[in-house]
Amino acid sequence: MAFNLIDLPYADLDPAISAKTLSFHHGKHHQTYIDKMNAAIDGTDHADAALEAIVVAARGSNQGLFNNAAQTYNHGFYWLSMTNEETAPSAELAAKIEEAFGSMDELKEQLKARGAGHFASGWVWLAEKDGKLSIEETHDGDTLADSGFNPLLVIDVWEHAYYIDHQNKRPAYLDAVVDGKLNWAFASENLARGTAWTYPN
Ligand code: MN
Repeated sequence: MAFNLIDLPYADLDPAISAKTLSFHHGKHHQTYIDKMNAAIDGTDHADAALEAIVVAARGSNQGLFNNAAQTYNHGFYWLSMTNEETAPSAELAAKIEEAFGSMDELKEQLKARGAGHFASGWVWLAEKDGKLSIEETHDGDTLADSGFNPLLVIDVWEHAYYIDHQNKRPAYLDAVVDGKLNWAFASENLARGTAWTYPN
């Protein structure tokens, strides 16, 4: 079966991410990854597989399919990692943030610093493994989907995520997303589930 684009739960994320950026990033970039993956799996053993199984099967053996499958997963997770609503971490997540980072403010500062310092294209994640939270980075189209980490939130740091709104100023994008748009309710759901989010199909 073919995979579909996830509907965005918002029209824009101003001032962090404009509707124009979303029209390209969601409507063109994400759609293209999905279209290429669907074309690659059509008529193959992967045609009816879950996205996460395709990521596992393609990793290290079919880089083209891996890139498109992993990017499909990462972007779906990224759209849900952000919101215009005021959200707060659950008591469980708040306790783990304090344990790992000392405070929410310190976690936010570290997310911004890791995002700004990430060389070239990639993804910055808040993740959980063995009960501990950490910030992880994946390069280019790589993903935590099959890593053993439970991803809680992700931020896209490819230029296409911020160039229209912030030009080359990745830190300005990170400030706006991290301070104003992260979906702590979604992160709390992911932590409570205890296993990695799966792409809806
Ligand atoms: Mn992207």
